[in-house]
Amino acid sequence: MKTAVVTGGSSGIGKAIAERLRKDGHQVAVLDLNPSGGELEYKVDVSDRTQVDDAFAQVREQLGPVTILVNGAGLELYKRFHNIDFATWQKVVDVNLGGVFHCVQAALPDMLEAGWGRIVNISSSSAQSGQQFMAPYVSSKAAVNGLTKSLALEYGPSGITVNAVPPGFVETPMLHRSAEKGLLGGTIEEHIQRTPVRRAGRPEDIAAACSFLISEEAGYITGQILGVNGGRNT
Ligand code: NAP
Repeated sequence: MKTAVVTGGSSGIGKAIAERLRKDGHQVAVLDLNPSGGELEYKVDVSDRTQVDDAFAQVREQLGPVTILVNGAGLELYKRFHNIDFATWQKVVDVNLGGVFHCVQAALPDMLEAGWGRIVNISSSSAQSGQQFMAPYVSSKAAVNGLTKSLALEYGPSGITVNAVPPGFVETPMLHRSAEKGLLGGTIEEHIQRTPVRRAGRPEDIAAACSFLISEEAGYITGQILGVNGGRNT
């Protein structure tokens, strides 16, 4: 039994990942801005290093060394680029990229000590395609893909794999919020018709990919960006 930390694990994709990892037999701690009150959920803003370090220290004390990390916390923003001030840009980057920085740094000592680790970063298919009105979000997620590849090269020799799963069009509160605001560029049904497998993604689809990448069998897979998007981006 290993100890996993899943950020953003109280909602949507992160919640499904946490549930799947529990089923896989791991002890799972969730770090989220709005914990849902479940056991082993910690209220943490991943862009705040002190909060991240404190939460990892508590997890370590309760459950032992953290050798699995899934970075699922994310902040979306829809705004015309010329109307975004730098503080707003920075906030998105601080959560989506800075959060990964802080959590990976918090987890790595345990992984290095164990000589084994699994890191999965949830980026976004928009990093492949681009997305209008989402420049800070897309830029931060593209950076997460770059960070993933760099860390894979650096930590492969230490038994640690680092991969990214960029979801596309997965039915979660985040997607519904965008649809309700008319920001999807079409209805959910229209998007389904544009998706090769003719359905929206489910959080469990992303969780299944994470489960595989975390498994012992996936030890030869690192630095990869595994798109789970129904064929919308190839
Ligand atoms: P979601 O349902 O909104 O879940 C995201 C979770 O992260 C929420 O619980 C959220 O808390 C939490 N969170 C946000 N900022 C945080 C912070 N600073 N510190 C800690 N937790 C924070 O969204 P989702 O659709 O499942 O998204 C999960 C991940 O997939 C995100 O990284 C997202 O960018 C990525 N993604 C999703 C899709 C999709 O189609 N749904 C597509 C591409 C990428 P609050 O509820 O309080 O904000």
